[in-house]
Amino acid sequence: MSKQVFNYGAGPAMLPVPVMEQVRAEFLDYQGSGMSIIEMNHRKPYFMEIIAETKALFRELLELPENYQVLFSHGGGAMQFSSVPLNLMGGHPERKALYANTGFFSQMAIEEARRFGKVEVIVSSEETGFDHIPHLDPAMVNGGANGGENGGENGGENGGENGGANGGANGGGAAYLHITTNNTMMGTRWQEFPHPLSVPLVGDFTSEILSRKVDATQFGVLYAGFQKNLGPPGQSVILIRDDLLEQALPEIARQLSYGVLAETGSMPSTPNVFNIWMNKLVLEWTRDQGGVEAMEALSEKKAARIYGVIDASDFYTGHARPGSRSTQNFTFGLPGADLLTAFFAEAEAEELHGMAPPLMRQDVRASLYNAMPYEGAETLASFMEEFERRHG
Ligand SMILES: *Cc1c(COP(=O)(O)O)cnc(C)c1O
Repeated sequence: MSKQVFNYGAGPAMLPVPVMEQVRAEFLDYQGSGMSIIEMNHRKPYFMEIIAETKALFRELLELPENYQVLFSHGGGAMQFSSVPLNLMGGHPERKALYANTGFFSQMAIEEARRFGKVEVIVSSEETGFDHIPHLDPAMVNGGANGGENGGENGGENGGENGGANGGANGGGAAYLHITTNNTMMGTRWQEFPHPLSVPLVGDFTSEILSRKVDATQFGVLYAGFQKNLGPPGQSVILIRDDLLEQALPEIARQLSYGVLAETGSMPSTPNVFNIWMNKLVLEWTRDQGGVEAMEALSEKKAARIYGVIDASDFYTGHARPGSRSTQNFTFGLPGADLLTAFFAEAEAEELHGMAPPLMRQDVRASLYNAMPYEGAETLASFMEEFERRHG
């Protein structure tokens, strides 16, 4: 590589350099086939092997039990804002779903779900500018202790159907509860998840998948767009408990149906072969680094360095409250709009890229996903300290 610069943009994000080097090396001639993976039939053994291995890697890295399926879908994280209600709202007679509103992407998910059914926002941190994760007591969903126990115990086999029915006191339950586990734009993260629940929990993991250990069995569905920790944009992975495959709304588009994706091996049409191939290489790289545990340790080390600067300073104001902080996205303000403009300009001039996004420029948002080495955190933290010395 001629020169490496750090990209702190929210996404598309940096990918591991060894992965891109391997893609470059194998692009024209995939394993001696004389063809590129993007020009051969996806049902040939070459690609069938890639997709099978990719699914197995998800299983291994996330310790997914047998009763969960790994599905790939066209469209990024935001496509799932439509897919989730279309696939799951059929689990409740009134198409009711519960949502937690924790910021930008939650709001998008809520607005989209409202097109298809009844959405109840049960907690929100909007009043304080989404600076924290609001407390969500499982009793708010379960309508008392009974709901909770039923939900937890039945979760494995028939949580979906029972979830809707058992919801109990709380007006007949709901088809699911949706949370955004890591809030990219706000820099907040659920430290633990509401559990046990009488309805299936659905998590948007787009900006944090593979960055910390998660008990997948607390969720009915985990989904993530590729462009942050998984690969190139425009694709998503859905990890779903078997019993939830059959509660789609009748008007769902066939291409979006989780049931159809499961039946067709995620190939109701030609899959994004390039994207899935790169995803496989990213997952192999993740495994070779030491898996999720190693990624979590690295994320915490990077986060400690950056929050260390924020906490030691009267110049920078951290947006996320300490108990709700993300280890992937960092949000902080500066004293005044002029300094903010100067921060972005000086950062770009020193090749710290991506912190001045076209949207939402009120404060700094820096994203450091799995492929960002510790050196990237050190570079950013040192730049922040230096900037404060010059302007503080
Ligand atoms: C980036 C992001 C999305 C949107 O992903 P696209 O691939 O742009 O559709 C959705 N949810 C979260 C939490 C994200 O960070």
